[in-house]
Amino acid sequence: MAQVFLGIGSNKGDKLKNIRNAISSLKETQGIELLAISSLYCTSPVGPQGQDWFINGAISLKTGLSPWDLLERLMSIEEGLGRIRDRPWGPRTMDLDILFYGDLVIDQTGLTIPHPHLHKRAFVLVPLMELAPDLLHPVFKKTISQLLEGLRSDERLVYLGSIC
Ligand code: AMP
Repeated sequence: MAQVFLGIGSNKGDKLKNIRNAISSLKETQGIELLAISSLYCTSPVGPQGQDWFINGAISLKTGLSPWDLLERLMSIEEGLGRIRDRPWGPRTMDLDILFYGDLVIDQTGLTIPHPHLHKRAFVLVPLMELAPDLLHPVFKKTISQLLEGLRSDERLVYLGSIC
């Protein structure tokens, strides 16, 4: 079983409901044991502006699924929640990203682990900091706490609290 950290986000439709539904789907997935869910944050969009703010959080889980099987499951949860892949960085009902899969490093077409943008995003690092401040990024050899400390970002985050 590998310990995995996921990023979760929604900025379209009933965002909170989308997040609750995605978490229920993860819980129902054979081969996945949910360990913890961070607080949620309302966050300003990164990339194309003129879209709604996101709700973001982080999740830790244990899984026997391979990274590719896990990705496939996450994409099917996204699709089940009405995700349409029209433009990159555009509005989405559900976004599930594999941030870390143990200390595995993968750089393949369609799957990069650790997630290639995680160290640049406050909306990822802030919730992750709640779950695993001492987790070591296997490429940069820095903890989440160190990555957050070194982050220069104009993102805005509003603490929403826990849904569990
Ligand atoms: P996004 O717009 O963030 O949902 O991007 C989804 C695409 O990113 C999918 O087609 C995945 O194949 C790809 N991808 C690459 N690395 C990852 C990762 N670590 N977690 C989730 N999706 C990934």
